[in-house]
Amino acid sequence: MDHPPSFPSLSPRHWSVSGKLIALVAPLLLLFVMVTAWYFAGTQRVQAVEQQVNSAARSFLNQVRADREYYASVVVPRLLKLNAQVIADYHQIPNAFPLPATFLREATEMAARTPSAYRIRLVSPWPINKQNGMQDAFHEEGFRSLMQTTEGLYSRRDTVDGTTIVRFLAPDRAVVQSCVDCHNAHPDSPKHDFRLNDLMGGIEVSIPIEAQMKTAQRDQVLLLWASAGVSLILMALLVWGTRQVVTKPVLQLTKEMETMLVAKEETGETPGLEKWAETAMGQEVRALWQQFRETQKAIRVHLIDRNVQLQRQTEKHQMLSQRLLELQQITQVMQQSTSEEEVYRILGHTLRQVLPLRQILILRLNASEDRLEIVWSSPKRGDLGLNSYPVWDNPSNCPVIRSGREYVVKDLRRDLTCSFSISNEGDGAYWCVPLVIGGRTIGVVHLVSSVTQCWTQDARQWIESIVNIAAPMIGHLQHLERAKRRALIDELTGAYNRRFLEEFLAKMILPEERRKGQVVSLLIIDLDHFKPVNDTYGHQVGDLVLKAVASTMHRILKESDVLARYGGEEFVVVLPRTGTVEAAGVAERLRLSVADLSLRKLATLAPDHITISLGVATYPTHAITVEDLIRAADEALYQAKSLGRNRVVCTTTEAPAAPRPSHEEG
Ligand code: GH3
Ligand code: MG
Ligand code: MG
Repeated sequence: MDHPPSFPSLSPRHWSVSGKLIALVAPLLLLFVMVTAWYFAGTQRVQAVEQQVNSAARSFLNQVRADREYYASVVVPRLLKLNAQVIADYHQIPNAFPLPATFLREATEMAARTPSAYRIRLVSPWPINKQNGMQDAFHEEGFRSLMQTTEGLYSRRDTVDGTTIVRFLAPDRAVVQSCVDCHNAHPDSPKHDFRLNDLMGGIEVSIPIEAQMKTAQRDQVLLLWASAGVSLILMALLVWGTRQVVTKPVLQLTKEMETMLVAKEETGETPGLEKWAETAMGQEVRALWQQFRETQKAIRVHLIDRNVQLQRQTEKHQMLSQRLLELQQITQVMQQSTSEEEVYRILGHTLRQVLPLRQILILRLNASEDRLEIVWSSPKRGDLGLNSYPVWDNPSNCPVIRSGREYVVKDLRRDLTCSFSISNEGDGAYWCVPLVIGGRTIGVVHLVSSVTQCWTQDARQWIESIVNIAAPMIGHLQHLERAKRRALIDELTGAYNRRFLEEFLAKMILPEERRKGQVVSLLIIDLDHFKPVNDTYGHQVGDLVLKAVASTMHRILKESDVLARYGGEEFVVVLPRTGTVEAAGVAERLRLSVADLSLRKLATLAPDHITISLGVATYPTHAITVEDLIRAADEALYQAKSLGRNRVVCTTTEAPAAPRPSHEEG
């Protein structure tokens, strides 16, 4: 028992389309979203902090510069006008005021103590007080940068004591002449050629950004987690969507295919998809579904067709095997037949069972092939007299005998029939099948149906098979018959012997059905004065004379006639279907031929000629039994002898109860 191929189990959790999609997309998506979030969030946060710090530093510097400028250009000149002292060490001296630089330093130190924690200090590459000189690389780089540009701000992120800060260096220029003069005149100043607006130093602003940076980093991490979460939600949606659009419909499709395979006999429609499922599935999957439906329909139609075909084939095979069996049986029955007649009877009966036939006639060509004989018929056709039909005596008139091919008339009212058709009123169609052995036509099976178009290919094949089985059987039996006849031939004369003659006559005359319409004539022939021939020329010459007479008679007679040596120098000739007059004619021809025979050719010492006397009798005119027939002919012969020999005498005495058919000759 074969099982349908099972589908691989398609668990949606185990490498389904959505699974593969996620496996492929998820790492990339996560990576992309996180990197993007990290980069943008990080950069933007740092930029924002830097920008914020930058603007704060600028405004702070502006404020500081403005304050110092006001102090230096407005407050200090007034103080000087009022003769107040303006010095760095103003704390020690009463009524003394700070220098602008001192003012600035002290003001910024106050700012550094505010919560903003800004640190501001003055730095100079040329300090009067060494403490205010450049102290690190930032200062050196900052002044180098500031000296190259007239305006601007140098800034850099730096880490001091483990704290992230942004350091700014703004230029500090000589805004009033007093500053220039003071510095130029000061003995501790390393530079004495300052002029107004010259860069005299710088204001350094340090702003701690540690806290802002930490906040920015925390925000960055938060954003990262948020983006990862969103990505995961997106992927979950993707998985769900793929399952609805692809996995579910494909799984359902697979299940349907499996159901279809398992239920081989099932021919009903499978239930359709739910509406939502059909809307949800992707275009490709829908196309797959539609194609599957179409294929399913096509397969169903194909299956139904194939079943019908199989049914037909099975029926055909059953019929063929049945026929084969029947043919075997027919062959067996025919093989057991001992006579041709029996084969004809079996053939006729078998054909009658094949089709509801109106008429079956089996016709046989006689030995000399100059006559067609009805050997079997069903039902009997009284209208087809023995000598009343042009085909019987001239078989070449029959197209089937002539060609050895079948002759089919499907519709007697429309089709062309053969010239000698024996159809009757009410016949619909006829078909003549030849009985052929070794390419030689030995007879015809004539089938008549009342139905037109009844010769289907199937019926014809079947009938031909049966006829083709019968034909070789008939041939075989005819051959046997001929062999038997040869065994019954007289060696000296080549004529049949007496035993054959008796059997033949019995077969010809005895069977009841042969009597009706059958005419047989018998000639008894005796050589005249044969004893003296023997006595004069010897027995051997006598034998030669007997042989010559027999072969002369053979030449004259037809093949269907039977010449037999009845005994000594007496012969009998059986003339089937021959009346007395015709038989007398044959007898006369025999007499003349024998009389014409020149015997001198046989031997140097031989008589010139020999004559014969013949007695003629006809069945059933003169006798209705074999014995009576022979006796009648013998009596006629006796008369011929009495009347002087070398003559033909016909019996005149009629048989007392002889039937006299209308066509019989007298
Ligand atoms: P008819 O018949 O005219 O009255 O005279 P017949 O001389 O023929 O007389 P009959 O019929 O009585 O003679 C028969 C003779 O035929 C007798 C026999 O010698 C001869 N005969 C019979 N059989 C053979 C045979 O096989 N060979 C030969 N050579 N002669 C045979
Ligand atoms: Mg004789
Ligand atoms: Mg005799």
